[in-house]
Amino acid sequence: MNSDLVPTLERENELIENINDVLSDVEAKKVNEARLVLVSKTKPASDIVASLKTGQLHFGENYTQELVEKAKVLPKEIKWHYIGRLQSNKCKTLAEIPNLWAVETIDGKSKAKKMNDAWAAAGNKNKLNIYVQVNTSEEPNKGGVETVDLEETLAYIMEECHNLNLLGIMTIGSVENSNVVPNPDFLKMGELRKNNEAKLGTKLELSMGMTQDFEHALELGSNNVRVGQKIFGKRAPKNVPN
Ligand SMILES: *Cc1c(COP(=O)(O)O)cnc(C)c1O
Repeated sequence: MNSDLVPTLERENELIENINDVLSDVEAKKVNEARLVLVSKTKPASDIVASLKTGQLHFGENYTQELVEKAKVLPKEIKWHYIGRLQSNKCKTLAEIPNLWAVETIDGKSKAKKMNDAWAAAGNKNKLNIYVQVNTSEEPNKGGVETVDLEETLAYIMEECHNLNLLGIMTIGSVENSNVVPNPDFLKMGELRKNNEAKLGTKLELSMGMTQDFEHALELGSNNVRVGQKIFGKRAPKNVPN
């Protein structure tokens, strides 16, 4: 194996312990079925090799180029989640990653259509799992559809985007709210799920909760938590485009 892919024994043991800790928290707090996504952005491929020893397969990345490079050298069993800000001109690149499992950051009808078309054009026969990101905290610089546009966006995807499998809705939530109990962003997500499941006649997952607040997110019904720093340690700030 390429030496870049070989973790030190010390790092491997550290990661296995961290992952097992988070997994027992998930078991203890969840009220629904929930999966853990290991957010490995900015961390070396060797960290992912070490993490695979726990049997976990869902990994999340934010930067398209970094994801492409990691996907190329790492085992194809990995189920990649793209969780970065989605740019139209990156849909094709993402669609060509053979083991891309989900795009969590669809932020409107036009982006949904672009991803839908790129997925088929890349020759994929299965449907691509997606979440629609919601700007629950209504912050001007945050990605995601506004709550008032959510129903229309979800209906559009179900009717017009036949290469996409609508898994549910996702939020990042505001930093301030990550310490508030109950978290207003998570409560809003629960409401949005309930209302839209009834209106659209389909089941919707909630993707919410990160290092700071994943336990609370699970208590409020999350089905998909995205945990980075609690597993891999602090990240150096990264100044590259998506
Ligand atoms: C980075 C990131 C995470 C993980 O954040 P941590 O605080 O490291 O757990 C989760 N979701 C999204 C969308 C992210 O960008």
